[in-house]
Amino acid sequence: MTDRKRILTGDRPTGRLHLGHYVGSLRNRVRLQDEYECFFIIADLHMLTTKPGPEHIAEIADNARGLALDYLSVGINPGKCTIFLQSAIHEVYELSLFLGNLVTVPRLARLPSIKDMARAALMDEDTIPFGLLGYPVLQAADILLPRAHLVPVGKDNQAHVEITRELARRFNGLYGEVFPIPDDLVEGGTLVGTDGQAKMSKSLGNAIFLSDSAAVVRKKVFSMYTDPNRIHADVPGTVEGNPVFAYLDMFDPDKAEVADLKERYRQGKVGDVEVKERLAVVLNQFLDPVRERMAYYQSQSGLVDEIIYAGTLHMREVAAETLREVKKAMGLTSAFNRIARKAEDRRKKEAATAAKSQAGAPAPAGKASH
Ligand code: ATP
Ligand code: MG
Repeated sequence: MTDRKRILTGDRPTGRLHLGHYVGSLRNRVRLQDEYECFFIIADLHMLTTKPGPEHIAEIADNARGLALDYLSVGINPGKCTIFLQSAIHEVYELSLFLGNLVTVPRLARLPSIKDMARAALMDEDTIPFGLLGYPVLQAADILLPRAHLVPVGKDNQAHVEITRELARRFNGLYGEVFPIPDDLVEGGTLVGTDGQAKMSKSLGNAIFLSDSAAVVRKKVFSMYTDPNRIHADVPGTVEGNPVFAYLDMFDPDKAEVADLKERYRQGKVGDVEVKERLAVVLNQFLDPVRERMAYYQSQSGLVDEIIYAGTLHMREVAAETLREVKKAMGLTSAFNRIARKAEDRRKKEAATAAKSQAGAPAPAGKASH
């Protein structure tokens, strides 16, 4: 046991991570891993709320490996952090069921995030599954099992941590203090996609992945949207809303150079090619150490699996301890214990009676002695 406060956060294993994830969450996690005891959940049960088919389940193992590999490649240290697979922790299912009784259906149904997720999965009020409505309850179980103090989340998930707090307070009030009330930490900003139209998202085809090769990054950068009104390099360009500059602002360590480039761009003194050339170099320099770690973990057969496996076994212990306290506080342990005790008494008595009657009874037929 350490006395560091705990963090719970993670991702659904639906594909590889991109620069948007780095800006929005990963860099924060790397920064926080020394200060907090971190639990990173590979949330495959959450994936089932919108993708329950066997074809999706068949992808879990590979996607979980890819996700963990991306975590490790950006510098998550497996010696300090616990990376685990949600579906292998049966206490998640149990706690989620208990918590489901402490929140109303309208409270969940009103959440814009649930409506958004339903819409994205082409579901409406009539087709939304019970499980998707319960998404924040499942998330509360994830957070409360390791008794996390801090939950780094994207803006879209902030309301879910509020639900977690309500559930934790409700639980503690009804049954006794078991859970700390977790804080949320809204992670870094949103990174726009290479199309400049929407946030970077793997399903929109506008993402630069952490696992992209230098050549692919270069190609993506050169096909990036810039300023649609700029036909020639000597026409003044717009910096605001131009994703090339958004990325330079985020990833170029030489702020003075970026400021100079922006100024020249505005004055029509620099072409898109030069700016993109710089961005390709900057992004590849940023990604080089990521690639190096990725290559290392990939060269060690079974190492990523071992990290997920060890993390999951550790999480099982943590979860079992919390759930024991949960059931004890609720009185469920004693409910069953009382029944079990009486049943065991009866079993003992019956066994004793049977033994006695066997001792006094005539020997079974066929084995009778003369
Ligand atoms: P999908 O296309 O399947 O929705 P995605 O690429 O949008 O995938 P999500 O799994 O939806 O990724 O994102 C999970 C979390 O990662 C978000 O809640 C957010 O915190 C963070 N994130 C994703 N994309 C970005 C982005 N472009 N900028 C900042 N943060 C992001
Ligand atoms: Mg998304």
